[in-house]
Amino acid sequence: MAFVDLHLHSRFSDGTYAPEELAAQARRYGLAAIALTDHDSVEGCPRTAQACEALGIEFIVGVELTAEQEGNELHILGYCFDMENPRLLTEIARFQAVRQNRICEMVGKLNQLKVPLAAEAVFALANCRAPGRPHVARALVAAGLCRNLDEAFDRFLKKNRPAWVPKFKMSGEKAIELIHQAGGVAVLAHPGLNRTDEIIPVMVEAGIDGLECFHTKHSPATTEIYLELADRFHLLVTGGSDCHGLNKGKPLIGTVKVPYQHVEKLKERAAQIRTDAALRQLIVMRVDS
Ligand code: AMP
Ligand code: FE
Ligand code: FE
Ligand code: ZN
Repeated sequence: MAFVDLHLHSRFSDGTYAPEELAAQARRYGLAAIALTDHDSVEGCPRTAQACEALGIEFIVGVELTAEQEGNELHILGYCFDMENPRLLTEIARFQAVRQNRICEMVGKLNQLKVPLAAEAVFALANCRAPGRPHVARALVAAGLCRNLDEAFDRFLKKNRPAWVPKFKMSGEKAIELIHQAGGVAVLAHPGLNRTDEIIPVMVEAGIDGLECFHTKHSPATTEIYLELADRFHLLVTGGSDCHGLNKGKPLIGTVKVPYQHVEKLKERAAQIRTDAALRQLIVMRVDS
């Protein structure tokens, strides 16, 4: 039986692995396919695709968009979209700018607290377009200003701690629409980590295609609940380890085993989304002419 991991982060967001290391790890665990799902970024996708191809692993283009619904943060996964879709790239660039400005604001707050961290140190360490709090935490440790990442988060960076800065987010509906118009499939990430399941019917109404039922932080009972909900709402099933490399102890890649059949269904849905879009385009052209 072939297995896949559809939720992985690289050093192009808050993971530690380079694309080549991710592909090598996927090979080590005998995975048939992987998707890269960096937060608000597709920067690592071309290199990961190349590295996977060299090792005979199927690569699925992915992203994890930060969204919000009624004040709660939601993560929407996108798969199989056109990596060069102009609207998607424009929106992602906007969110990356927000993330970069937020780094400067967090460093400003740290400086006010007499913690002498330089924004340049964070950007140099992050070396990617979608920096976040983990990079600030790592820079604090590297500069000897905190003993470890937990201390950095506990003292400064957790929600409502003195250097925390909220992040502007798009609505869940907008994230779904953005992925669809780029020809991709939209999936609600780790529903078991969200504050409420009431969001699921709202997302179904907004056109969500799937639920991430398998996830490192879902217990077997939680997984069962979401498999049932996916069935009830006729949603695709996806899953992955949400591996961030060595950020949080051992790597998680290979620990969540998702059967390959779910990738087949994912690709079928993506093909359907594209056919529907092409048909709509045709109708618009006929109406116009
Ligand atoms: P951001 O998107 O910049 O708000 O950062 C969110 C990321 O920070 C998450 O994806 C985690 O990787 C990491 N993170 C959040 N809270 C903690 C924590 N308490 N300790 C370590 N890492 C954390
Ligand atoms: Fe993360
Ligand atoms: Fe997430
Ligand atoms: Zn993730």
